[in-house]
Amino acid sequence: MLARVASGRKYVLGLPVATEVKDFQMSEHSKPSVRTHARGFADLNVPPAFVEVLRRSGISKPMPVQALAIPDVLAGVDVSCCAPTGSGKTLAFSLPMAVTLARGRARRPSGLVLAPTRELATQIADQLGVFANIRGLRVHAVFGGVGYGPQLNALQRGVDVLVACPGRLEDLIERGDVFLDDVSIVVVDEADRLADMGFLPAVRRILDRTREDRQTLLFSATLDGDVRVLVSRYQRHPTRHDVNIDDDPMRMTHKFHYVEHDARVASCAQIVSEAGATIVFVRTRHGADRLDRQLAKSGVEAAALHGDRSQGQRERALRAFRSGSVRALVATDVAARGIHVDDVACVIHFDLPADAKDYIHRSGRTARAGAAGAVVSLVTPGQHGTARQLQVELGLSLVLGGSVPSEVSKTHPADPARGPVRASRSNPHRRGRSGSRAANRTRS
Ligand code: AMP
Repeated sequence: MLARVASGRKYVLGLPVATEVKDFQMSEHSKPSVRTHARGFADLNVPPAFVEVLRRSGISKPMPVQALAIPDVLAGVDVSCCAPTGSGKTLAFSLPMAVTLARGRARRPSGLVLAPTRELATQIADQLGVFANIRGLRVHAVFGGVGYGPQLNALQRGVDVLVACPGRLEDLIERGDVFLDDVSIVVVDEADRLADMGFLPAVRRILDRTREDRQTLLFSATLDGDVRVLVSRYQRHPTRHDVNIDDDPMRMTHKFHYVEHDARVASCAQIVSEAGATIVFVRTRHGADRLDRQLAKSGVEAAALHGDRSQGQRERALRAFRSGSVRALVATDVAARGIHVDDVACVIHFDLPADAKDYIHRSGRTARAGAAGAVVSLVTPGQHGTARQLQVELGLSLVLGGSVPSEVSKTHPADPARGPVRASRSNPHRRGRSGSRAANRTRS
């Protein structure tokens, strides 16, 4: 996979302190001889039993975030890692955590991973579980929307690594069902989204209950704003790594498809039919259900994923999409946060995202783990200005009309000179984080 890594040992508050940007550039703190030449996980000091499990899963070469973070996590230092979705960050913290973590006791885990959504918590627990098994460590995920029974039983039996959404974890703490005094390694995953969802006060209260000498690992698509506070208050001299996926135009293409409002569903159905497995983002829960039905009427099997759905319904929707029995997953932002599905060919912004940051998060559902993917935004007549602003913030060159994968058919009247342009991208991860249209946000 082509990747750009800009890295520097920086913990000066929140400054984007990439020292340099070039392929696999290491931080001055890193050990270049080890990391830049790491051909396999063994070069990163990963014990043989873990290397073997990876090998059996077909994973032999570390992704950049793994090459950078694993040695630090194994060495016990705090890490702040700016890494986009799909960069392999789950393994980057799961594996070394499973290597170094001490055993917990009943109701007293020794490791804690905080994640914004149940889907992400489940995925992390699954991945961590594979490595934890090697040492007989027990992993359990706790989140709201499901009964307490199985979670209480697991805690009572003993959980070494607790993967948790903050709300349910605080409930369990208040009930006296879990104590965090023994927690010696904490991972805050998708910290920016935890902040966006209003979870930061809870995250801070939770961190305050863990051991003072704990190791704190923080992963986030951005390390600015509120996340900066977490870094400054809860990390000790963290090593900072910035990992950006290279702007290889073959990897992720971006298109802005100009359609009349009434034609959006037909357009969306056509794109899904041409592209294959597609995640379609909408703004509201109601909108997700409606589009799900409309796509079905147009002959495109879809499933909806949003916060009003029960855990069982959400899991069924994900399973149907993963197995290919439905082609489209219609999702709201929050519900889709952090989920990973292999081989998502396309992401459609049926409703434009609230801001550039959401565009990046949504789009990151495709083109994962080095695969290619297409991102299509449907833009209705009243949204031209908004789309243009997004393109500017993201550093995307203007791309108009067309559908995936055919070429462009329409030219935006405001920019006739540009004409049809092939999708291109200049690394949105390094640009435009502003949230000027936050007012567009709705519950999802
Ligand atoms: P993540 O960013 O953690 O959601 O990971 C994205 C995808 O990359 C997941 O399907 C991982 O299983 C996969 N992955 C993680 N590390 C590697 C690796 N070193 N080689 C190949 N695939 C990987």
